[in-house]
Amino acid sequence: MANYQQVIDVIKSGSKFLIASHAHPDGDGIGSTIALGKGLERMGKKVVMFNADKVPYNLQFLPYSNEVVDKLGDAAFDATFMVDCSQRDRISGDVAKAQKNSLGKIVLIDHHLFSAAESDIICVDENAAATGEVVLKLFKLIGTKISPEIATLLFCTFVVDSGSFRYSNTSAGLLRDAADLIEAGASPWAISQALDESNPPATIKLLRLVLETFDMADGIGWVVLSQQMLKEASASVDVAEEFINYPRSIKGIEVAVLFRELKTGKWKISFRSKDRVDVYKIAACFKGGGHAHAAGCTIEGDLASIKAMVLGEVRKHL
Ligand code: 5GP
Ligand code: MN
Repeated sequence: MANYQQVIDVIKSGSKFLIASHAHPDGDGIGSTIALGKGLERMGKKVVMFNADKVPYNLQFLPYSNEVVDKLGDAAFDATFMVDCSQRDRISGDVAKAQKNSLGKIVLIDHHLFSAAESDIICVDENAAATGEVVLKLFKLIGTKISPEIATLLFCTFVVDSGSFRYSNTSAGLLRDAADLIEAGASPWAISQALDESNPPATIKLLRLVLETFDMADGIGWVVLSQQMLKEASASVDVAEEFINYPRSIKGIEVAVLFRELKTGKWKISFRSKDRVDVYKIAACFKGGGHAHAAGCTIEGDLASIKAMVLGEVRKHL
């Protein structure tokens, strides 16, 4: 359901907009937030770009990333764009707490499968590799000029969500869009270097600790990342974004699982699959979400019982 025209009508009729994505943002969430924000500013609109968490260190190279705020104050908006995330409680912080009427119309710009949307207008393209692809389509329909900065932001969303143009969501359309962004000023190598070749040394120490926990059975491979490991490696969790790809890289492993301890005593579970398993369905069993090949959820409890429960569910889907 991609109602581009309704989104365009909201943009044309309003003047002050809020844009927000999920907490613990990734390159698609932050890149889409800022790209949409800057595009709207080019149309003469006032924009607040929000994230409840700080922009992770490896995304701080993105143009205007220092303009993303983590507090709202008591401002009111004509519309709120939720990008890459369909639930206000996943945006969390001030946006989750805000009165609905201060947010104006809620517009969902996304590429995730979703079950319960809290949105007034839904612009979701489940075939888009990244939310950034939906944002670009919107700009093309409006005729917004793509500046080199917006091109960089959108190209970053493509790289992150398509695994550098390798995953099954890499379509001819995505590559054509990517070509347009390069012509508009995006530099693939500069972006990849900033994203993947700029890790702090603590990354290796943390990876060593996490790989110690690797285990596999029945086509499932898993690793654990605890708060204790973060402390021991003096690392921040942002550096672990790609760690789940190690268990998935093993021949014969169909589903990879990362169990990550959150500060709150809860566990964040990430799922990745190679081909036939739809991990969205597994995550949805635990009130999570995502896509067929990448999904996640959060569960409260002790690791041993969570592991047994989650791996038991994964086995049912193999
Ligand atoms: P990751 O494992 O990288 O955090 O997330 C993989 C995919 O699943 C992303 O598209 C992300 O937005 C989605 N996802 C991760 N955790 C959750 C969750 O708790 N709820 C929902 N709805 N989606 C999630
Ligand atoms: Mn995304």
